[in-house]
This record gives sequence, structure tokens and C-alpha cells, in this order.
Amino acid sequence: MKKPPIIWLNTLFFTITFLAAVTIVPWYGLAYGYSSANWIAFIACMFYCGLSITAGYHRLWAHKTYETHPVIEFIFAIGGAFSIQNSALHWSSDHRLHHGKVDDAEHDPYAATRGFWYSHIGWMLREYQAHRYNDYANCRDLQKNRIVMWQHKHYLALTLITNFGIPLVLGLVFGNVWGMLLLAGLLRLVLSQHFTFFINSLAHIWGSRPYTESNTARDNGFLALFTYGEGYHNFHHIFASDYRNGIRWWHYDPTKWLIKSLAFLGLASKLRKTSQERIERAKAATLMEKTKRTLLEKQDSHVQLDKLQHEYELLLSKIQHYYKVRKRLLEMRKNKVIQQCEQSQLKKQYNDIKASLINQQQNWLALNKALIKGLAIN
Ligand SMILES: [Zn+2]
Ligand SMILES: [Zn+2]
Repeated sequence: MKKPPIIWLNTLFFTITFLAAVTIVPWYGLAYGYSSANWIAFIACMFYCGLSITAGYHRLWAHKTYETHPVIEFIFAIGGAFSIQNSALHWSSDHRLHHGKVDDAEHDPYAATRGFWYSHIGWMLREYQAHRYNDYANCRDLQKNRIVMWQHKHYLALTLITNFGIPLVLGLVFGNVWGMLLLAGLLRLVLSQHFTFFINSLAHIWGSRPYTESNTARDNGFLALFTYGEGYHNFHHIFASDYRNGIRWWHYDPTKWLIKSLAFLGLASKLRKTSQERIERAKAATLMEKTKRTLLEKQDSHVQLDKLQHEYELLLSKIQHYYKVRKRLLEMRKNKVIQQCEQSQLKKQYNDIKASLINQQQNWLALNKALIKGLAIN
């Protein structure tokens, strides 16, 4: 099939900025050196761009996982233009398509099934999207947002003002204008763009799939370090309306921490979270499918399959029971009228079912491990 024409503006822009970043930036550093103010500004601008995309473009606008104050929206809109990743409206439209048609080679704008290069940057270098470029039908809600539409209208001017203006002002205030233009301007731009692009490419290739195997998205804690927490992409693809990507407290997800902090300050509200019960069920179902596939490849595996099915159903019923009791306990704590003895009875029931669920989860994991390895089970 004939490839669509090259978009020369994008191709030259990505090529020139990349080549300049890998040549001029180190050359200047060796010849003149960068000050610590240059490096601090570089890191600050990296976080500003990165978080504007993840907390703003991605989790606020594309997925509506929370609501925030217009001042914060404005800050994200400026940071998004600073990142040069198209307007929030356009970015969100592409991203909603990506979720709706994930891996579909024709309709997912950055389908990972078309390979690393295509999903990373190739999709922006040719007229693959020309037929729907100005179609924002999947973003009617955002078309009613004044800040989003203002940024969309003035996108080009905003990218120029921020990309030259911010490093220039920083240089004039803290000294070494060229150092600022190269680190906080050029290197920051190229790196922050490629770090975001990694979510479309590497996060669909490299990592584990604990929550769903229905698409290529992967969980990768290492990638989360460079992507402000977006490396937990397998979780994100199945529970896209959750404001978190890394759900454990120790998962590196600065975007989640920023949103939570904004809520603490009264600047964000309606943070959406997937229930732990749904998460546990998704994990159990994914592991079940994985082990089942392995067993079906073997001959005479019906005894193991029966055992797997039995333990799976037991696990599901314990999950359901545990979260039901937990909910009742929480409701009871809110309702102070309830007798003390009734509370302690329920607390005991809760502790018992919790211990039983933990035990069942351990058995379940051990059974799956043994079955996948082909060990004998009793
Ligand atoms: Zn994805
Ligand atoms: Zn998403």
C-alpha cells in the first residue's frame, strides 16, 4: 500500500530539534559549561511540561478523572503549549480514539500493533490522520471549555511565546541566556516530547499485563519514572477514568500526588477512583485466562482446569464477601447510633473474612504458579 505524503513541517521540526539537542547542547556544555541555575530550570521546566500533559491533557481533559479550578486549567494549558504536543483539544481527541480503538491498525491514531516507530513518532510524520484532522466530534464536552478553546485558537502563538519567552526570561533573571535557551528550551523540549511518546510506544510493548490482556498496554514501573507515573499503562487502559495510574501508595506516580495535593488545597474535586473490588476481580480474571491458555495447550489437563475453575470461583466469592462486609463496617462507623456490641461483632466478622481472603489469594497465586510451571497439584 502506498504511504501517505510526508508532513514536512513535523518531520523537519522533530529532526532539527533532535539533532540540535544531541550536538549543540553537549558542545556548549563542554565549551562554556552550564550553571546550576540552568540545570534547576531544566528540571523545573521538564516537570512543568510533563505534568501539564499528564495531569492536564491526559487525566483532566482526555479522561475527565477529576475537576479543577480554572487557574490550574490555565496553568496546564500554558504548559501544554510549552510542550508542543498540539492543542489540548486535538491531543484529547487523538487520545480518546486511541482508547476506544486501541491497537486497531486503521483507527487507533498511534496503534502499537503497527510497530515501535509508528506508535512513537511515525504517526505524526505522514498524513495518516488527514481525513479526520479537524473532526472533534468525540470532544464535544471540551469544545464547551473556554480555556481549552482559547488555547486551541491561540496554540501557535502560545507555543512560540512559551518556548522562546520562558527560557529567555529565566536567562535574564538567573544569568546565562544561552545556557537557559539550550537546557530549559531545547533539551527540555526534545526530552519531554520523547518521554510522552514512550507511553504510546514502549508502554505498549515492554512490561507486564496484570489487569487485562485484551490490549497491548503494559505496566512498567521503570517507565513510570520518566513519564510522571504514566508507566502503569495496563491499569490505565482498563480503568481509564481513575485519576491514578499507579494505584499502590509506593507506585511512582507524581501526577496522582499532584492531583491529590490540589484536592487537599481545595483546588481539585470529584477525583474518580476504581473500587478495589473491581481491581481485584480484573486481576483474578486475567491470571485465570493466562493459566487456562497454558493448560489448554497441554493434553489431559481437565483435572487441572477443574481445580483452577473451582479456586477461581472461591476467590471471587471471597472477594465479594470481603468488600460487602467492609462496606457495612464503614457505614456503621459513620452511623454512631449503632450499638457497640453490634460493631464489635461485625469487626470480628470483617477480620475473619479478611484473613480468609488473604489465605485464598495466596493459594490462588501458588496454584497458578504451579500450573504454569507444569508442577503436580493435589
Ligand atoms: Zn495507550
Ligand atoms: Zn489515557
